[in-house]
Amino acid sequence: MAPSVGTGPDLPGPGARVLVAGLGVSGQAVARALLELGAQVLGVEESAGPAAAAAADALRPLGLDVRVGPASTDLLAAVDLVVTSPGWRPEHPLLRAAADAGVPVWGEVELAWRMRPPGQAWLAVTGTNGKTTTTRMLARMLSASGARAGAAGNVGTPLVEVVRAEPALQVLAVELSSFQLHWSATLAVHSAAVLNLAPDHLDWHGCLPAYQEAKGRIFRGVQVACVYNVADPATEELARSAEVAEGARLIGFGLGVPRPGQLGIIEDLLVDRAFPPGADGVGSGATELAAVADIDPPSPHNVANALAAAALARAFGVPAGAVRDGLRGFVPDPHRLARLARVEGVDFVDDSKATNPHAAAASLGAFASVVWVAGGLAKGADFDDLVRQGASRLRGVVLLGRDRGLIRDALARHAPDVPVVDIAGTDTGVMDEVVRAAAGLARPGDTVLLAPACASMDLFSNYAARGDAFAEAVTRLARGAGR
Ligand code: ADP
Repeated sequence: MAPSVGTGPDLPGPGARVLVAGLGVSGQAVARALLELGAQVLGVEESAGPAAAAAADALRPLGLDVRVGPASTDLLAAVDLVVTSPGWRPEHPLLRAAADAGVPVWGEVELAWRMRPPGQAWLAVTGTNGKTTTTRMLARMLSASGARAGAAGNVGTPLVEVVRAEPALQVLAVELSSFQLHWSATLAVHSAAVLNLAPDHLDWHGCLPAYQEAKGRIFRGVQVACVYNVADPATEELARSAEVAEGARLIGFGLGVPRPGQLGIIEDLLVDRAFPPGADGVGSGATELAAVADIDPPSPHNVANALAAAALARAFGVPAGAVRDGLRGFVPDPHRLARLARVEGVDFVDDSKATNPHAAAASLGAFASVVWVAGGLAKGADFDDLVRQGASRLRGVVLLGRDRGLIRDALARHAPDVPVVDIAGTDTGVMDEVVRAAAGLARPGDTVLLAPACASMDLFSNYAARGDAFAEAVTRLARGAGR
């Protein structure tokens, strides 16, 4: 069992003794916020790298007491509250000991929720995949409606900073990971969406039910709308079983024709059949929101993201025109189905952010004939469904990274005729080998797709570095082809 989350005091004020576990980006922001509240703050960072030292040096002058090195449970004796970073697993001895000793443990989101300015609405997004894209689409829709809005959470700026912005933001589009939700006990947002649910991060949560339970927390106490994916019954189940505020509604989104109470697609148009068309609240017909062509890229999973964002925006009262304006000109973040180049009739696409099988499945589904580049750290995932679903689209496969054998075995089981090139290299030139091998397998009209279905940290510092290495290798290939 993971330690339970205590609710503890309302906010740690002067005299409160708080331990901040982990001094990464979010931990540093938490420490600053707590020091501003007047708390006595002890920061603990277990990795002794230069980044940790720099963080400690920056925070000490503000009054932070810092310990670098293994976190001893003895530290808890003089602590009223622990605020943990998402990097620490619930089984960490310090967090377990805190639970045993009855010391509340919060995440950054819990702290930010308690610090939010009066009247600020949170529209929250979670799911296995599509969170960042949906959150950013939503923030654009809110801003297009004239609201003072911001995107926050896992998308970049820590929430504890965004809630303290001056002047206060009226509404936040908040991306929440399962790690953050795990430590958010009193969160009760205006409206929330769960985009999809597939196994991921099982190494952190321990098992699928624990992961789903964490995701489901996003619906607890929702005031206006619980948004679920009609194509993913697990998301609907979470919405139906949540304890919500009186009057909160269940709203579905999906790629089919919407039923009453849903948003969906009718003849290439995004249509709302859930919220009343006008500000007068009369009628419940169908409101045209935007065209599929307003979405970039218009791949099925991205259209689903746009519909989910639209559902949350509409729950907040955003007019149809602002939904469309928010979508038009929206540029996805890098490494999400980014088209890089066409070399001798073959398209090269970087979806390095497809770090689990569910994302890679959506990615493969967007192209007819694919040379698939995959592999890395599997995080406990299983690749059989992905390979079974994608097999008919595969021209060939190039595998790299530590756990590539797991994908190779799944291919042998479900796609034995698909040619596979196994790249064992671990040095910086590995992507040149990968790209050359992929180009060798591809025929004109095919897409070479980096959608690794795995995390990147075995060979690269993160998914962005992996995508950049792929893009650079494609550029070198294109130069060679042009000679
Ligand atoms: P997250 O923040 O949840 O990681 P992103 O918006 O950054 O989500 O997208 C990550 C990857 O997930 C994308 O590169 C794409 O491969 C895949 N993806 C995006 N949206 C979806 C979706 N709705 N369903 C399945 N896969 C998706």
